[in-house]
Amino acid sequence: MVLSHAASDSDVSVHSTFASRYVRTSLPRFKMPENSIPKEAAYQIINDELMLDGNPRLNLASFVTTWMEPECDKLIMSSINKNYVDMDEYPVTTELQNRCVNMIAHLFNAPLGETETAVGVGTVGSSEAIMLAGLAFKRKWQNKRKAEGKPFDKPNIVTGANVQVCWEKFARYFEVELKEVKLSEGYYVMDPEKAVEMVDENTICVAAILGSTLNGEFEDVKLLNDLLVIKNKETGWDTPIHVDAASGGFIAPFLYPELEWDFRLPLVKSINVSGHKYGLVYAGIGWVVWRNKEDLPEELIFHINYLGADQPTFTLNFSKGSSQVIAQYYQLIRLGHEGYRNVMENCRENMVVLREGLEKTGRFNIVSKDEGVPLVAFSLKDSSSHTEFEISDMIRRYGWIVPAYTMPPNAQHITVLRVVIREDFSRTLAERLVIDIEKVMRELDELPSRKSEANGDNLMVTVKKSDMEKQREVINGWKKFVSDRKKTNGIC
Ligand SMILES: *Cc1c(COP(=O)(O)O)cnc(C)c1O
Repeated sequence: MVLSHAASDSDVSVHSTFASRYVRTSLPRFKMPENSIPKEAAYQIINDELMLDGNPRLNLASFVTTWMEPECDKLIMSSINKNYVDMDEYPVTTELQNRCVNMIAHLFNAPLGETETAVGVGTVGSSEAIMLAGLAFKRKWQNKRKAEGKPFDKPNIVTGANVQVCWEKFARYFEVELKEVKLSEGYYVMDPEKAVEMVDENTICVAAILGSTLNGEFEDVKLLNDLLVIKNKETGWDTPIHVDAASGGFIAPFLYPELEWDFRLPLVKSINVSGHKYGLVYAGIGWVVWRNKEDLPEELIFHINYLGADQPTFTLNFSKGSSQVIAQYYQLIRLGHEGYRNVMENCRENMVVLREGLEKTGRFNIVSKDEGVPLVAFSLKDSSSHTEFEISDMIRRYGWIVPAYTMPPNAQHITVLRVVIREDFSRTLAERLVIDIEKVMRELDELPSRKSEANGDNLMVTVKKSDMEKQREVINGWKKFVSDRKKTNGIC
């Protein structure tokens, strides 16, 4: 090849990225570097390191949306530089959030007139939404106790032991005792009867979950409401209900419209839902709506002057992106009831394909229910020689991310694997996953039992091997023991 001109040192075109000095040195990890690097190099280096992350589409651990239409991606990118809190400057964005609140409140059957505006707010996710709902209950209860001249320093919330970690956060951050109804083998949600028994005069609310994180099951909110109505009548209290519909709030209205779990029940005063789960928006949006204005104490609301009009706000943080609000509005009007129903029905059908495929192997007990969030939670029928954690580790080699975790008290001896079915998990992928799980089971059958029992400080490895092998197994056993302990928190 003949070069038309000799490359000079300054000719950057010959400095191929992968021969440049930037990829020859290790990257700073603790201190910000003194000098700048070219943007191409920064992009390439970071992009390459990120290749080692899992593939979000194959991350079956999460309810959170991993695919949206390209048109919506475009809207998101064009609003990526808008700060949501600048309501004066971006009045249309504010208007879109208000429309979303109205639509969601109507979806949950809030007692509203056709054109009446709803009480609610967009949040970063259900966690922030739950903090806000919890604060409203706490303040309302305190105000009432103060007015009655009664002590108001020991508030509590009654929940099932299956609550998501954000409730524990709320309890600790805002000093409310969490009274958890224990689970039992074969029953993995809050028992309404036991919950109502635990209610006392200091209970600020009972939190029911529509779509337990652990197995997708809907708690019986109607029974809870009916039992609580009776107890309230007997005691003179007015203990309310909050529904944590983080995952189920966009499923029940479309798949089970007859199911009464929402504002149709008189004691349900607030509901949260994650826009970024089955609301079908990328991570970063949740919603909380209240039944009536009276359910949100006025002193928690800050009033921002917005184009001469009053814009009430109730959030924990100030600045945040606008893209997710806009994306939520896109989904609501683009899909409508018809579209959401189609997506949810499709998810449920793929859940059935996966569940039947797993049942056919004869190796698993299915722990999830037919009615609920479309997911399959399953455990080994025979875990005497291998565990669910080994399946989770081994399926990762095929690219799939399927978490395994133990159930909360008193069902902690049960371990389950959980596959969440999202919109972008097609039937082909469901069938493919069954084939890959079968392969893993055959591989496990060939392997000696590596089951190790970790109890307290003792770790017993049951296989006799050469010293080297034994040592390696002990190390692996410990690694697994440590990571297993974190695994309950690895689901979201
Ligand atoms: C996911 C989830 C949460 C937390 O929601 P984020 O939107 O991730 O903050 C709370 N409760 C339940 C039942 C959930 O499934």
